[in-house]
Amino acid sequence: MTLRLFNTLTKTKDEFVPIDPRNVRTYVCGPTVYDFAHIGNARPSIVFDLLFRLLRHEFGDAHVTYVRNITDVDDKINARAAERGVSIRELTEETAQIYAEDIGALGCLPPTVTPRATEHIAEMVTIIGQLIAAGHAYVADGHVLFDVSSKPDYGKLSRRSLDEMIAGARVDVAPYKKGAMDFVLWKPSEAKVPGWESPWGRGRPGWHIECSAMAGKYLGETFDIHGGGIDLLFPHHENEIAQSEGAHHNHPLAKVWMHNGFLQLQGEKMSKSAGNFFTIRELLADWPGEVLRFNMLRSHYRQPIDFTFEGLRESWKTLERWYEITEPLADPAPDADFFAALRDDLNTPAAIASLHQAEPSALAGGLGFLGFSNVQMKISTKTKVDEIAIADAIEARKAARAAKNFAESDRIRDELLVRGIVLKDGPEGTTWEIKK
Ligand code: AMP
Ligand code: ZN
Repeated sequence: MTLRLFNTLTKTKDEFVPIDPRNVRTYVCGPTVYDFAHIGNARPSIVFDLLFRLLRHEFGDAHVTYVRNITDVDDKINARAAERGVSIRELTEETAQIYAEDIGALGCLPPTVTPRATEHIAEMVTIIGQLIAAGHAYVADGHVLFDVSSKPDYGKLSRRSLDEMIAGARVDVAPYKKGAMDFVLWKPSEAKVPGWESPWGRGRPGWHIECSAMAGKYLGETFDIHGGGIDLLFPHHENEIAQSEGAHHNHPLAKVWMHNGFLQLQGEKMSKSAGNFFTIRELLADWPGEVLRFNMLRSHYRQPIDFTFEGLRESWKTLERWYEITEPLADPAPDADFFAALRDDLNTPAAIASLHQAEPSALAGGLGFLGFSNVQMKISTKTKVDEIAIADAIEARKAARAAKNFAESDRIRDELLVRGIVLKDGPEGTTWEIKK
């Protein structure tokens, strides 16, 4: 059976033929580590974890290399470290550790390599030098910029013309730029900001160059699959292509580009900047990681997901029912329908539908393949709604409000919200309902 994957570059679902079946190479853009990741950030981690599992199944565990980077140099990181009064290193170490624990609890396997941007500055300096030498980049006012006009096929991934890009993007206007879409490869750092010596003075890399440098180092000039969320398509992935191809005689960066859709809250993309998010960590306090994972996999990875607590409760019920049927079983093995669905562009809704019809051993095999262990759920004794605890929390919130401690009363309200409980304040006092 062939594996077919939707390729954003061709906009078609194509048969996947690895460049070298003894080493199938995948790169996925990882987190910028300055704060807790939200459940939207968990989507690419879970989707590409499943792809990693499927590729290992198809080509052998030893024949797949999965690289997911950590962005530990970024202006948001600098700002947050200053705000909290901790060193940048402390902040990035702590956040990277939390991220690893969080997505581990969501059943994601560690990638083969997890490179950090700050440990690959030398590789970035090399590739920037190659781009200057090849006429794709120029130095201006202490910055190095990529000259978009030097690459006539710029825009081929997102299929936009330069005019559309300029109209649609938030273009940073800077006097030293030759073209509006030219983007930063290297920028100067003042004394207080992290910086490294380079041929262009003390500075730090732009965001896009780190992925080109790390992908090149661990996977070579051209590799099989590049993944990330759909928001990275433009400009991040477009710029990665321009940089890597510009430095490598136009050899393609990746054969297949895969993008997951957004996880949304009431129709809006979940995001830190919009403030409409739940962190993985706060959800894990009330929901088993397996429920969060299953809830994600019930939707096809390219479709948007509307995140609801109702969805989490349904996911929990289904898993609980299945775990009761499947234990204990020797030799669980998924059936042909299950694999046919996954090989059709990771069609997890169809794979899960096939489990509803499956024999117990095929069900157990399918669940195991998708990353469900059945252990965590069994030891979880949490009930879905604990009315006494809610009543206690409402009383505590009332006391906090009476004492004008609004920070505490808001905290209690938010804590309940994470558990799917919405408080309603009315003339009769505070009532609660289950969030839809
Ligand atoms: P960031 O740390 O914002 O660069 O995001 C890390 C990863 O999470 C990237 O692959 C993003 O595309 C992805 N991502 C961020 N927000 C969402 C969302 N609401 N739904 C799905 N993926 C997301
Ligand atoms: Zn990237």
